[in-house]
Amino acid sequence: MRIHHLNCGTDCPFGGALFDGRSKGLTGRLVCHCLLIETNAGLVLVDTGYGLRDVDHPHRPPERITKAMRAMLNIKLREEETAIRQIERLGFSPADVRHIVLTHLDFDHAGGLEDFPGATVHLMDAEFTAATGPRNGFVPRNRYRPSQFDEVSTWRRYSGQGEAWFGFPAVRGLEGLPPEILLVPLPGHTWGHAGVAVDTGSGWLLHAGDAYFYRKEVRQAKRECTPGLRGYQTMMEVDRAQRLANQERVRRLSVEKAGEVKVLCAHDPVEFERAAAGTLL
Ligand SMILES: [Zn+2]
Repeated sequence: MRIHHLNCGTDCPFGGALFDGRSKGLTGRLVCHCLLIETNAGLVLVDTGYGLRDVDHPHRPPERITKAMRAMLNIKLREEETAIRQIERLGFSPADVRHIVLTHLDFDHAGGLEDFPGATVHLMDAEFTAATGPRNGFVPRNRYRPSQFDEVSTWRRYSGQGEAWFGFPAVRGLEGLPPEILLVPLPGHTWGHAGVAVDTGSGWLLHAGDAYFYRKEVRQAKRECTPGLRGYQTMMEVDRAQRLANQERVRRLSVEKAGEVKVLCAHDPVEFERAAAGTLL
């Protein structure tokens, strides 16, 4: 299966290296790392970043992206970064995207869903329930934006567990998808947050979504994270104990199974650059 790494959104938070660990100036640079997988069941998109409608009218009521989050993350909205435009540039038709697998429904992962009206959207049931139920409080109101997904026509929601994957609970046999693509529940950032594991034929790739945010939170025994991303993760978590436990498990996996599994997260720009160049360890 051929995998393309797409950056479908850029955030430039004030704080620079305090967020991304490398920027020289006042602002940092975070990505929205999505996967486009060529399968014999058509194209499969893992997460969607920001979409055309986010670019066109982010704040028109009902807001797709709140002004609070826009300002906090200094979100750049660029049509050329949307998944649909990148897929077109790769020479595919948007209609070739038959399935979208979501790590979770936060605004920076769900924005492109409605650009693919023919796609079936797969996610954990707990995530769908949290995002479509009552949203009380600053974080729930700002993270889930129903206007980004109220026109999705075909959802597939999962709660059952299949045979474990490297010791993690796993949802196997996603409907209509090849068996090489699994959901790996990693709750804590949100209630129904999950990683997406892909058997590439030459090892596994785990897109860990927002289970961690910074490249040095994995691939080494001791966690290192910038203060900005540490603070953001704390602000957005729904269950601290579960989040930290799942992050620790991903870290251990990345160290102990380094030869078999490559891990990446949604927002680290260095991981994205390495993955796109084929040099991610
Ligand atoms: Zn995110």
